[in-house]
Amino acid sequence: MVFKIFSMMGKRILILGAGFGGLTAANVLRKSLSQDHKIIVIDRKRSFMMGLVKLWILEGSRKLEESQTPLDGLNARGIEYLNDEVIKIDTASSRVQASGHGWIEYDYLIVSLGAELAPEKIAGFTGNGYNLYNAQEVPKLRERLLSLKSGSVAISIMGMPYKCPPAPYEAAMIISSLLTRQGTRNSIELDLYAPAPIALPVAGPKISSNVVEIISEQGIRFHPSHKIKSVSDRQLEFENGAMQGYDVLVGIPPHKVPEVVRSSGLTGGGDWVAVDRHTMKTSVKNVFAIGDVTEIKVGAIAVPKAGIFAEEEAKVAARQIMDEIAGKPATAAFSGQGYCFMEVGNRRAGSVEADFYNPAGPSIKLEPPSEQNYEKKQDFERTRVKEWLL
Ligand SMILES: Cc1cc2nc3c(=O)[nH]c(=O)nc-3n(C[C@H](O)[C@H](O)[C@H](O)COP(=O)(O)OP(=O)(O)OC[C@H]3O[C@@H](n4cnc5c(N)ncnc54)[C@H](O)[C@@H]3O)c2cc1C
Repeated sequence: MVFKIFSMMGKRILILGAGFGGLTAANVLRKSLSQDHKIIVIDRKRSFMMGLVKLWILEGSRKLEESQTPLDGLNARGIEYLNDEVIKIDTASSRVQASGHGWIEYDYLIVSLGAELAPEKIAGFTGNGYNLYNAQEVPKLRERLLSLKSGSVAISIMGMPYKCPPAPYEAAMIISSLLTRQGTRNSIELDLYAPAPIALPVAGPKISSNVVEIISEQGIRFHPSHKIKSVSDRQLEFENGAMQGYDVLVGIPPHKVPEVVRSSGLTGGGDWVAVDRHTMKTSVKNVFAIGDVTEIKVGAIAVPKAGIFAEEEAKVAARQIMDEIAGKPATAAFSGQGYCFMEVGNRRAGSVEADFYNPAGPSIKLEPPSEQNYEKKQDFERTRVKEWLL
């Protein structure tokens, strides 16, 4: 049974971004708050596609055009969706400016604008390489890989932090199995370059060496401490002085906080928005930030930029707001726990379970690949899209 929270004075809750975090927060709030509270979501996009679908497009099990779910499905749920660009966040006056809708006031604000890609930070990348994190480029990358008969494919992680730390490794294994199916794998070299000294700094040295073992078994060479400096036609230059040739370059470009968030002052001069690690509150009253736009430090590392964490943080921010409206003490707190499925190619996936707030230090477990985990990953996407938009 769902209890609706009624109030004589309806509140206006404004959610910036209809990605993983924004869609979760909007739906949780709408299920619990009565209609006299207004929930507005703004996004420049007209449709939603989960980040992980890019890997299925690369693999060939999905098409880009079949994977977009229109965001106006939110309106039928009593959530007002505005297809617009957020151009200013003015927390001093509790209002946000959108280019087509002008100033919109709020009682509560949830900032879930994600991380922006900054391919322009790597000289020569655009035009010479494929951006793995740009949905429009992945079908072109797939076509290029299918047409390659021999040579080398380089995958470069171009900056830290980036969304979904295992994704470049998953992409490498998906590419390996794709080339194997094409019959060209034996004549194509596959190299993965990472800026960090280990594969997954966020998961620690043990899981990192397990991941390197898994990719090595597929003949993928791993090059740690290779931070890209610049790209030219068929040549990569690294900050450590190394030069490497390539025929196809797959890049994970550096990430940055959206400019509209930086100029709002919410980053406080840092790279990302700092929030209370339990409540998702920013330093400004009634303003919450969730997902990739935030940085939650746990010792030397930070909670990874991943949808599963954006989702959990969204639930916490939504419940904090609901409790406050109901005049109850806040109960919800972010647990720092999450999981993901790491694809290894050929429709198999391992599973990773993480507890970043474990009192003895972050604990991460990696389970061996199976077909069941791949099925679970598909279900992960299907159930969420249905719950949020259909
Ligand atoms: C290849 C790949 C694989 C991944 N695999 C997984 C996985 O297996 N598991 C997992 O948990 N996570 C995965 N992720 C990561 C996951 O997609 C992100 O961490 C997640 O989407 C973050 O959610 P968010 O709500 O913070 O931001 P987003 O989902 O990025 O949403 C931000 C929204 O804000 C909008 N926006 C930004 N600026 C403006 C503006 N100025 N005006 C209007 N709208 C704006 C954007 O259009 C976007 O819709 C993967 C990502 C990639 C790229």
